[in-house]
Amino acid sequence: MKYISTRGGMEPASFSAILLEGLATDGGLVIPESVPRVTREQLEAWRPLSYPELATEILGLFATDIPRDDLAAMCRAAYSAENFASEAVVPLTPLGGGLTLVGLSEGPTLAFKDMAMQFLGQALEYVLARNDRALNIVGATSGDTGSAAEYALRGKDGIAVFMLSPQGRMSDFQRAQMYSLMDDNIHNIAVEGVFDDCQNLMKALFADLDFKRAHDLGAVNSVNLGRVTAQCVYYFWAWLRASDGLDAAARERFEVSFTVPSGNFGNIFSGFLAKSMGLPVRRLVLAANENNVLDEFFRTGVYTPRGAADTFATSSPSMDISKASNLERFVFELLGRDPERLSAAWRELDGTGRIDLSAEQPRFEQEFGVQSGSSTHADRVATIRSVFESDGVLIDPHTADGVKVAREHVEPGTPMLVLETAKPAKFPEIVLEATGERIGIPERLSGLLELPQRVTEMRDDEAELRAFIAERAVRR
Ligand SMILES: *Cc1c(COP(=O)(O)O)cnc(C)c1O
Repeated sequence: MKYISTRGGMEPASFSAILLEGLATDGGLVIPESVPRVTREQLEAWRPLSYPELATEILGLFATDIPRDDLAAMCRAAYSAENFASEAVVPLTPLGGGLTLVGLSEGPTLAFKDMAMQFLGQALEYVLARNDRALNIVGATSGDTGSAAEYALRGKDGIAVFMLSPQGRMSDFQRAQMYSLMDDNIHNIAVEGVFDDCQNLMKALFADLDFKRAHDLGAVNSVNLGRVTAQCVYYFWAWLRASDGLDAAARERFEVSFTVPSGNFGNIFSGFLAKSMGLPVRRLVLAANENNVLDEFFRTGVYTPRGAADTFATSSPSMDISKASNLERFVFELLGRDPERLSAAWRELDGTGRIDLSAEQPRFEQEFGVQSGSSTHADRVATIRSVFESDGVLIDPHTADGVKVAREHVEPGTPMLVLETAKPAKFPEIVLEATGERIGIPERLSGLLELPQRVTEMRDDEAELRAFIAERAVRR
């Protein structure tokens, strides 16, 4: 299997080669040259597999240049009992009204980013060793993405992490999670400023190509195809577990729909890929919060990214996006995998600030099964409360966005699987507001707040940051 760019300007490359890159060399997004197909017979053959075994099968369709035994070892290490609290790795919890939660936040940072980052950590270490290369990850975080990256990359050979976070702007829990990591290869840098300042510092470093090359800088952002493929696995897993109790005839006809709390369109794109591989999925429902650029796009066919000033800070913060970095992959499929048409659409976006695909909009649902909806803070509070009252289950505000939209799209006879993207313990305030329940952090993380912390405080100063990185970067 080779990988190409949505813009058509990259030589086909192997899975190992594209793992180390964010964007394609021509500025587009990396996609598989062709989509591997899975039959119902194959799905049934996979039914007895554990999560790491299933991951090996599915990732094996993409990572064809990595020997199967090596891939199996990586998947076992990524989805181990040490990393994931649930023995199933991804447990399913039925709710009322035809809905089932798919638990994606059993990992070390209690959010779904762990699902892909844990695999990527293993795969990066492996590929770097084989190529005798080093990688220095530079990232900016307001909390969640940074911690998932650090937990996945801590202690890995040939990799260091330099994570910028805004001083004094994260919760005690988020700070403790990141700053208590004492691994030599993890460098937390608290910048005097806000998240945008951190991001600007990072962008400035990456814009300096000489510095970037000299110190092997890289990123592990949500457009990384290794993450997208690892996320496919739980769509297959959820379909299998949801149909475990059925007889053979019912399994033959079995279909599910998924609702996905969405921000950068990474998670739901993985569902889209799973569906195009042949997983029997009826609908993929995108759930947005007040930052509803994607809901607007799927309803009207017009995509109008917003500026930072028009992006609201909401109570489901990981979905507060102004543009959706992975959408280009969907538009590429929509435009018949034609790099010319895709590039023309993106030129239109650069020129006018919008893309008008309203002529194609009816196909979104007919051909791709995509629907969408959005919710507000009041909806999240009401949904957290009603799920707690009717099912006795506490959910986090992102999952609540999903449940709210799922209820509007559930169809009789088709199970609606809602992806649980974070644990409620990460958002105790809204849970308290909605239910009156005081939720503590999970037992296995109790004591986290008391651990010693290590962080370097820094002014918002590019020169200082460069010196810091140059001194501590790993080399080979
Ligand atoms: C990242 C994240 C999302 C959004 O996922 P995308 O892949 O960016 O669409 C939703 N919920 C939580 C809790 C997240 O951390």
